[in-house]
Amino acid sequence: MKKYVYFFGGGAAEGDMTMKNLLGGKGANLAEMAGIGLPVPPGFTVSTEVCDLYYKSRKTIPAGVKAEIEKNLKKLEKAAGQGFGDPKDPLLVSIRSGARASMPGMMDTILNLGLNEKTVAGLIAKTSNPRFAYDCYRRFVQMYGDVVLGLKPVNKDDIDPFEAIIEQKKHEMGIESDTDLSADDLKDLVARFKAAIKNKTGHDFPEDPMKQLWGAIGSVFGSWMNERAIAYRKLYDIPESWGTAVNVQLMVFGNMGRDSGTGVAFNRDAATGADTFYGEYLMNAQGEDVVAGIRTPLPIADLKKDDPKAHAQLEKIRHILEKHYADMMDIEFTIQQGKLYMLQCRVGKRTAFAAIKIAVDMVDEKLISEKEALKRIEPDQLNQLLRPIFDPAEKDAAIKGGRLLAKGLNAGPGAATGRLVFNSVDAEAWAKRGEKVILTRIETSPEDIKGMNAAEGILTARGGMTSHAALVARQMGRVCVAGCSELAIDYGRHVMTVNGKTLKEGDWISIDGTTGQVIEGKIQTKPSEVLQVLIEKSLDPKKAPVYQTFAKVMAWADAHRTLRIRTNADQPDQSANAVAFGAEGIGLCRTEHMFFGEGKIGPMREMILADTLEQRKIALAKLLPLQRKDFAGIFEVMAGRPVTIRTIDPPLHEFLPHEEKDQRALAAEMGISYEKIKERVASLHEFNPMLGFRGCRLGIIYPEITEMQARAVFEAAAATKKKGIDVGPEVMIPLVGHVKELAHQEKLVRQTAEAVMKEQGVTFKYLVGTMIEIPRGAITADEIASVAEFFSFGTNDLTQTTLGVSRDDAGRFLRPYVDKEIYAKDPFEVIDRDGVGQLMRMAVERGRKTRPGIKLGICGEHGGDPSSIEFCHLIGLNYVSCSPFRVPIARLAAARAALLNAPETKTSKAAKSKKAGRKR
Ligand code: ADP
Ligand code: MG
Ligand code: MG
Repeated sequence: MKKYVYFFGGGAAEGDMTMKNLLGGKGANLAEMAGIGLPVPPGFTVSTEVCDLYYKSRKTIPAGVKAEIEKNLKKLEKAAGQGFGDPKDPLLVSIRSGARASMPGMMDTILNLGLNEKTVAGLIAKTSNPRFAYDCYRRFVQMYGDVVLGLKPVNKDDIDPFEAIIEQKKHEMGIESDTDLSADDLKDLVARFKAAIKNKTGHDFPEDPMKQLWGAIGSVFGSWMNERAIAYRKLYDIPESWGTAVNVQLMVFGNMGRDSGTGVAFNRDAATGADTFYGEYLMNAQGEDVVAGIRTPLPIADLKKDDPKAHAQLEKIRHILEKHYADMMDIEFTIQQGKLYMLQCRVGKRTAFAAIKIAVDMVDEKLISEKEALKRIEPDQLNQLLRPIFDPAEKDAAIKGGRLLAKGLNAGPGAATGRLVFNSVDAEAWAKRGEKVILTRIETSPEDIKGMNAAEGILTARGGMTSHAALVARQMGRVCVAGCSELAIDYGRHVMTVNGKTLKEGDWISIDGTTGQVIEGKIQTKPSEVLQVLIEKSLDPKKAPVYQTFAKVMAWADAHRTLRIRTNADQPDQSANAVAFGAEGIGLCRTEHMFFGEGKIGPMREMILADTLEQRKIALAKLLPLQRKDFAGIFEVMAGRPVTIRTIDPPLHEFLPHEEKDQRALAAEMGISYEKIKERVASLHEFNPMLGFRGCRLGIIYPEITEMQARAVFEAAAATKKKGIDVGPEVMIPLVGHVKELAHQEKLVRQTAEAVMKEQGVTFKYLVGTMIEIPRGAITADEIASVAEFFSFGTNDLTQTTLGVSRDDAGRFLRPYVDKEIYAKDPFEVIDRDGVGQLMRMAVERGRKTRPGIKLGICGEHGGDPSSIEFCHLIGLNYVSCSPFRVPIARLAAARAALLNAPETKTSKAAKSKKAGRKR
């Protein structure tokens, strides 16, 4: 017969900590603690499988399971030496929920179950403490009335009906604190509670303990589908199918007097990771009193005075648990008349700082291995370590003071404070004057690059996590809050209104790119310790403990990863930052941003507006030295590391002004008519620029552009080589769908390379390859690989073209799609493995078949996303490339991908679930 109920207590248990799937986290850990001899009140766990049965049996508990529960109840009576419903010495139990993943406070708990008019008398007789007995009783009726019988506040402004009765009673008695209520007062409360229940439900409060028990177990299973629990599961990706277990456990009492109490603690500090015992407790209290905020709890250190014996025992248990679980644990305990009981333990939630420090410390203490440490740190947590931070107290005060304006997407983590400006020109001008600015735009475009660079932070009203603003902000390491739709920005008047407030240019504003909060006024920030060491080089690493732990984790990650990590960078300073963060090359150097740089936009526009090949060549000749200088700067910084440079990609109209005023200015500057410019812009207009005249199509129609760019790359390479610095240029042709497109461009690039080597009298190695970013390119990868020496997956465009979704127009439906779970995650943030991923896999296989040594990488935004990095590892890419500030995250993600998918991990996982007996 299948087992559904697992007993624990008396130094033994039928379950253990590996059985979380079946017993839930709470049940598995209660069993584990009981099994290793810690003082756990005995009890039993009804497995998560019963939750499923409960819903399948129209919300009833099947008879067979009922019988098994009754058998275990008998066993519990024996262990406790008490009888359930015995009027002389009643057994009281708690009914506790507990899912696989901890969902703190999401589902309901009932304490002191088994009390009724008869058993309460027995409890009084046994303890000679009527106040205690009635305190238990009124808590029980209150919890049961709420959880099982549904006496809850009706709408959000109502107060809890039971609390209302307590308030009324206190008012009548003229007392303030619950602790001032006498036994008789509490007895009266029980009567009033029951009357309220009868009044509301039309039924008497159940006196029969068995009836109480079935009601409570049913409602814990029922709470799996309550609104709070559903919302929480959504937020943390917990599947509905998991279900919750129910724990029935002997009550111990922290409310028996001054020698009793209850508390919660962590074996290490959850905020900093320091090796100190951190916790809070209350004497003469029960259950949730500590967290409920009715009374202010005391720091755990004070327990030394209140109960030195219990404190010493708790210290001992802290170390036992730490050794046993080799992790930071969150524990619940209760002291009943000087005797300590453990009621819960689970792996504790922690900040990134704590996560890293604890993992590294535990390796030093030989509690865990390096591999285990890496598995415990979520790559995205590293963001917290890299970003500038607000002074937490100041930010809290600002929010409490009503200065929170709105919330957008947390697109570029970190904290920034500055003065509002509404366009890039102002941003630059103000920054030049030494002002800190927050560039605030409806949305940004490539034209805004310089302003974005000059700003402390970027705030936009439109656009998602992969909008232009977000993408560029992450690459630059700028703080960014995007898609903050509450902002109504008036460019003309240089003001914005948000929730009734109007802010004007120059007003101070603060944005928290880690949370998406937009706050009025100034809040002090400081760069993170890691940045002070690596980027600013203003802090001695020896004096930077956070940096040191970070560096250790990075070194371990490097030792375990097989993927190489490159960066997307198109300026020497960005490249230098990326190298400081550990980048091993550049995976994508976009040349178009360069054209907006100092002195370049003029000749660029001249080139676009040219009527003849001759005119175009004159303009290109002006651009050549400028581009060469850009590339030389990057080659020097990268010192021989591979640098993938992409030839021009965006449609040409992006480089021309669209406003009449700007067009007129350009006309005057170039000495041509405004009409001509207007006409040219109109002729370049496209209905769907994403699929229009861009990418290699430009270079095929205007080969002289590719030639100029190749020449700039190779002349820069030659010059750098002559300085004695090694170079690794890789020229990448974008948007290739047909091998002939690539062959056409490749020929030009190679001819140019050979010519430059001859002219300059130096040789250097270089590669020519392509982006795989449209489906035809992936499908014909075998043909394309006959020309390409490398592929780089441009997964932004590959996602757009595979899904047939324009990223810039997806705002309306993509979020709802994710909410409806049509796509599990935004496919522009996390690779759509089943669609786009299959094309990638196909291209990898076909490409390698033609050219076994082909270099394979990814340079789309996905290259910095941990789940996508894991996919890249699985399909056998050689490297991922991401924005400079994501390089550490990618290093860690790559190591975890290797560790979590290593063959040995897989077998040990399988062995574990075999041990657990069954899988749901
Ligand atoms: P949650 O999952 O919300 O933490 P718990 O099941 O842990 O809920 O219970 C809530 C509170 O009740 C906790 O403070 C816990 O310590 C207390 N509690 C639960 N069972 C018992 C028991 N058998 N004896 C004493 N206190 C208990
Ligand atoms: Mg708990
Ligand atoms: Mg592209």
